[in-house]
Amino acid sequence: MTEPSPQHRCGYVAIVGRPNVGKSTLLNGILGQKISIVSRKPQTTRNRILGLYSRNDAQVVFVDTPGIHEAHTPINRRMVDAAMDALGEVDLVVFMVDVSGGKATPEANELALDALKRRTLPVVLVLNKIDRIPRPKLLPLLSQWSEAGSWETIVPVSAQTGDGVGDLLRELVGRLPESPPFFPKDQLTDVSERFIVSELVREKVFRLTGQEIPYATAVEIEEFEEVEGKDLVRIMARIWVERDSQKAMVIGRGGRKLKEIGTAARHDIERLLGCRVYLQLTVGTKSRWTHDRNLLQRLGNFGEGS
Ligand code: GDP
Ligand code: MG
Repeated sequence: MTEPSPQHRCGYVAIVGRPNVGKSTLLNGILGQKISIVSRKPQTTRNRILGLYSRNDAQVVFVDTPGIHEAHTPINRRMVDAAMDALGEVDLVVFMVDVSGGKATPEANELALDALKRRTLPVVLVLNKIDRIPRPKLLPLLSQWSEAGSWETIVPVSAQTGDGVGDLLRELVGRLPESPPFFPKDQLTDVSERFIVSELVREKVFRLTGQEIPYATAVEIEEFEEVEGKDLVRIMARIWVERDSQKAMVIGRGGRKLKEIGTAARHDIERLLGCRVYLQLTVGTKSRWTHDRNLLQRLGNFGEGS
């Protein structure tokens, strides 16, 4: 064991921003593994997921939060609360915007900017998806955004190509307090494999069923068993939906949709666990499962607040 050097830095960094700006992609890129869900659809990351970026001189504890954005429905409000709670306990906030479409103006982000202003946390502004904009457009963007808030610094990146991510890490680490690491250095994330597996299945449900399935969908891991000497993990998971019509949609004609979901999920889980996976999926209907405290606790899908 080598002693951490006295210069060692460690702290919590929250990644906030609207759905789809690329928060999970950034985190996954930094951690080099699929930890958080990447989706083309908004709001699949309902949970706070801690990812640990560790190196000799520093450890960054990332909190991937749902976005701070308009809260129209109760579940949305809960997501905003979760984002806010996450902000309360961090050393630094990364506020990410997607500058690729030209829509990410400071005005369009008023709610989030207001929320950030009300807190005294240092904020690093990340302009993401610069791979999608021509270089000459970057400078005007930078000046537009620099006036919109009191940023620690502004870092343009492409979370997808990795461009600028090294700079970002340097900016983040340099702003963390001197501290020994909070977690063992070889630990990638503090969420269990079971949890990640359930999130991977949930992601496939979203991706493969389309808009019809609301994100009030949960996945319960009923069995997670390593088959000894076989390099195989057996997983039984139940997808919970709220209505029979949704159940039919997830199962699909002749069970085809469910099979598709299972195959895609198994693929990702095998990569994550590094072994063969036998995955059995079932679908259950439980009306208003989001109000069932016992089930919620078992699912752990609303970790914060409990
Ligand atoms: P989140 O909702 O903020 O976590 O966003 P995701 O990480 O799930 O990304 C949303 C979508 O944007 C995905 O389709 C990503 O592949 C894409 N994306 C993320 N970062 C970049 C980037 O730097 N460049 C481009 N072109 N696409 C990106
Ligand atoms: Mg995400």
